[in-house]
Amino acid sequence: MAPIIHWFRRDLRLADNSALAAAAHAAGGAVLPVFIFDPALLRGRFASAPRTAWLLAHLHALAAQLAAQGSRLVIRRGAPVAELVALAHSVGARAVYWNVDDTPYARERDRVATNELQALGLEVARFKDVVVLARDEVLKPDGTPYTVFTPYARRWRERLAAQPVVLQPAPRLVALTVWPPAQPMPTLAELGLPATRVPLPAAGETAALERLHQFAAPGASGLAHYANQRDMLAASGTSRLSPDLRLGSLSVRVALQAALAQETHATPEVRQSLTSWVNELIWREFYTQILYHFPHVLRGAFRQAYDLLPWENDAAQFHAWQTGQTGYPVVDAAMRQLQEEGWMHNRARMIVASFLSKDLLIDWRWGERHFMHLLLDGDPASNNGGWQWAAGTGTDAQPYFRIFNPTTQGQKFDPEGDYVRRYLPVLARVPARYIHTPHLLPPAEQLRAQVQIGRDYPLPIVDHKVQRARALALFRR
Ligand SMILES: Cc1cc2nc3c(=O)[nH]c(=O)nc-3n(C[C@H](O)[C@H](O)[C@H](O)COP(=O)(O)OP(=O)(O)OC[C@H]3O[C@@H](n4cnc5c(N)ncnc54)[C@H](O)[C@@H]3O)c2cc1C
Repeated sequence: MAPIIHWFRRDLRLADNSALAAAAHAAGGAVLPVFIFDPALLRGRFASAPRTAWLLAHLHALAAQLAAQGSRLVIRRGAPVAELVALAHSVGARAVYWNVDDTPYARERDRVATNELQALGLEVARFKDVVVLARDEVLKPDGTPYTVFTPYARRWRERLAAQPVVLQPAPRLVALTVWPPAQPMPTLAELGLPATRVPLPAAGETAALERLHQFAAPGASGLAHYANQRDMLAASGTSRLSPDLRLGSLSVRVALQAALAQETHATPEVRQSLTSWVNELIWREFYTQILYHFPHVLRGAFRQAYDLLPWENDAAQFHAWQTGQTGYPVVDAAMRQLQEEGWMHNRARMIVASFLSKDLLIDWRWGERHFMHLLLDGDPASNNGGWQWAAGTGTDAQPYFRIFNPTTQGQKFDPEGDYVRRYLPVLARVPARYIHTPHLLPPAEQLRAQVQIGRDYPLPIVDHKVQRARALALFRR
């Protein structure tokens, strides 16, 4: 049987992979699994060394998994369409299958690929996989897209109830009679990216499932206590599965099913946590469809009037924010977490994004890009949605006066200061009473805490009260 090419992109797993399962079924297991490094993405404005290192680690794991079945992961570097055409010729493939990616770059790339491959007589088949419900499955009764989360989520749940989740096992692949010439897996340096010190979690589908199990298995403490732990900065209260969902080492349906399967027997408290976690998965789908229907958000504000905001864009203040030297401990700790781990707690993301846009009056797109450079889970849709939510330019109804106070946020969500001390060891001995206001620490206490504020740790670079009033005036205008 002529083989079918499965083009891996953000679905780096074998189990519950829609396009791969269909390809294996249609070709009797004779699938050519391919991953293509696209120079346009590696050099794009959102390119990221940590995320590419994470991708490489996954590809190594996937290659080993395929090799164990007698199959191979074929690696190519170059323009995707040309590479696919060459590969199809070299093995006599009759079709190319892939899972849909709704980001603007991928849509255009896939449109061109579809046209060119079909013109050569190859069959192209595309599958829903990255989301549970696709952008055209959750629409308003008049057929237009939702732009407000709550009614979107309500409709999403109705649709899900009518169309329960079905999981597909990993297919059995067979060795092909002809393989294309092997090309080695490139290194980060060969891909033109700098080295990264971010420690990567264990990569691959098995490790991702293990993380899901640790968080969500019945009896595990994570998911059951999610509702009241998810905002606490120092707790391990969230799943940390976003980097797996980003590259598809974890299927979102498998993640969702882990929560749904517990619903019937859960206590009311646990049920609240299950609902709250599923809601976060729905946020991911909400932003995915926002980017699909309103691709202009990747260039500017969802509400385009806000593109006229006269941001101050002070480069020195931006640098202080990036490097965690604003004098607001919770902001600085969060920015160090991002640098050190390639990940940041959701509550912290909201705090630092509000601080950049509302306290420093810096264009949220600067922050969006910085996040994309560093986050292992950096996703154009969720990141853009999160930034526009915090900056007040996005889909929310009356958002611009939502301005987080970084001091009270810290006091509420890191009351003992454990999160701050973890990432800012210079404040390790500061008592909890002052941990979010170290600039108020009396000199004698500074001596005891072995820190001199203004020398070892900066004074606040702006006054939140003053900046809040300025931001409100700016947005009102
Ligand atoms: C300014 C800003 C930027 C963000 N950038 C990204 C990004 O680039 N990539 C990304 O995946 N998430 C982003 N988020 C959303 C959220 O912060 C992360 O998804 C979450 O912190 C990941 O941690 P977790 O896996 O432990 O989440 P959990 O709390 O365990 O949630 C489970 C999953 O739901 C999804 N999710 C959770 N919260 C959100 C949300 N608010 N929006 C969309 N999806 C969500 C994620 O896939 C997450 O893995 C951003 C949020 C903000 C405020």
